[in-house]
Amino acid sequence: MKIYIKTYGCQMNENDSEVAKYYLEIEGYEITDDEESADIVILNTCVVRKKAEEKFYSAIGEFKKKNKKIGIMGCGADKEKENLFKRGVDFIVGTRAIPRISEAVEYSLKNKKVAFFDDLLDEIDYKKIIKRNSKHHAWITIIYGCNRFCTYCIVPYTRGREKSRKMEDILSEASNLAKTGIKEITYLGQNVDAYGKDLNDGSSLAKLLHKTAEIPQIERIWFLTSYPTDFSLDIAKEISKSNKIGKNIHLPVQHGSNKILKKMNRRYTIEEYKELIKNIREIVPDASITSDIIVGFPDESEEDFLNTVKLVKEIKFERLNLAIYSPREGTIAWKFFQDNVPRIIKTRRMAYLLNLQKEINRALNEKYLEREVEVIVESEGKNGIFYGRDIRNKIIGFNASAEMIGKKVLVKIKKITAGPLYGDIVKLL
Ligand code: SF4
Repeated sequence: MKIYIKTYGCQMNENDSEVAKYYLEIEGYEITDDEESADIVILNTCVVRKKAEEKFYSAIGEFKKKNKKIGIMGCGADKEKENLFKRGVDFIVGTRAIPRISEAVEYSLKNKKVAFFDDLLDEIDYKKIIKRNSKHHAWITIIYGCNRFCTYCIVPYTRGREKSRKMEDILSEASNLAKTGIKEITYLGQNVDAYGKDLNDGSSLAKLLHKTAEIPQIERIWFLTSYPTDFSLDIAKEISKSNKIGKNIHLPVQHGSNKILKKMNRRYTIEEYKELIKNIREIVPDASITSDIIVGFPDESEEDFLNTVKLVKEIKFERLNLAIYSPREGTIAWKFFQDNVPRIIKTRRMAYLLNLQKEINRALNEKYLEREVEVIVESEGKNGIFYGRDIRNKIIGFNASAEMIGKKVLVKIKKITAGPLYGDIVKLL
């Protein structure tokens, strides 16, 4: 019996798919990369944007036509629940019920429709889940859910409240992975800085980073995604002390206007955000600060937008993920706010910020020219160029060979763009 898993959305979904694969394989199911030959297709879904939701609904239609059995995991499962049966889905497994995935498959083979939403997170034995999609990099989820309830966001309703994993459990997972050749890990959480707060045993992201850096085979450690008021400067201190912890802090600001931040229920002012960046830069002078911004949130005036422009110019983010606001069913903003910024204005504001950020990227990248940076070789691009990242999370392209994937090399930067940097390998480290 062959099963194909298609993963949409964020890195946490990628990690969940790896966990699901483990539970399916121990029950004897074969995981395939070939959707055509699969008997069962599991869609690990994302609903964070309307487009993402539309994508998996259209995939359900496509796979139905091919007479595949279809299972749904991910945020789409928790958002739509049993309604998905009306679409012809065979089984549904919520984000916290992954250990029951093979049971759900078994029921579907007997033509029984089941939906599991139990919270079985404590049952997941991560020490045994050592198979990863990459040979040198692993995603590790350290905290589930989110308590922040930003008014535009569906995540607290799909992934539930914050729940941290025990620190010793995470560390033994990281050590086991290191023994299999994993050199780089990324700790994941919707609000990764809240890690440990619910455990009440002194655990924190800063302590976890410190301990992880002591694992000899681990060469790089990243963490995603930070929330400004939960970010502790102890994390910055750990970054400054270690040459293993990535100097990239992804700190979504979402908007440059206090009026809009309040409406978004982001629990900081723009002044507090700027103060935090200043403090981080004092501790880690070459920190790479990246961010997310939403354009066209309800009631965003021209003045509010110009405040965002001002902030972007002032902070000079190393990278910016820009999104045009669209209401997500089930959120506070969808229920109570009018989506009242005309599409044409949203698009114009988005284009303006895109151009501005491109200029900033280019100017920041200029500083890299002729510099030598340590890069872990990650993958080969479609153009035959190999790519990797430096300690600041800059994407760097160079000529290499497949055997070098996972190795650390020194690259001299020869060409810059507003996106990746390009250079030549100087030596193998
Ligand atoms: S902090 Fe992030 S995940 Fe949590 S509600 Fe806000 S946007 Fe969503």
